Amino acid sequence: MLDVVKRARLAALGQALSGTELKDTSRAWTEILMGIVPLERLNECYLTAMRNRNSTFPLNASELCTAWREMQAIERFAPKPQVADCEICRGTGWEQMENRAVRPCKCRQSKTA
Ligand SMILES: [Zn+2]
Repeated sequence: MLDVVKRARLAALGQALSGTELKDTSRAWTEILMGIVPLERLNECYLTAMRNRNSTFPLNASELCTAWREMQAIERFAPKPQVADCEICRGTGWEQMENRAVRPCKCRQSKTA
């Protein structure tokens, strides 16, 4: 948590917080994010929030909550990659022809469309 807060403030203000400020901010963020954002995904969440925001104000913890909800929504609805399950190419992206030549598999063609 400390590390994420430190980087959030550094990115926003161009300067690092003092030790005490950092601890206080970090404690406040922990209070808000605890039970919502899993700790191991906190960094990912921070990066998503920073990349998606338009505001020039320093990032606040509730924006991380929003980013997390968006990430979850995307993960819930995004189809899992099926490429490795392809019966034609078995995940290589190349279809074997009878004359031992290969051509790009249909599964890859539909992905780029
Ligand atoms: Zn395929």
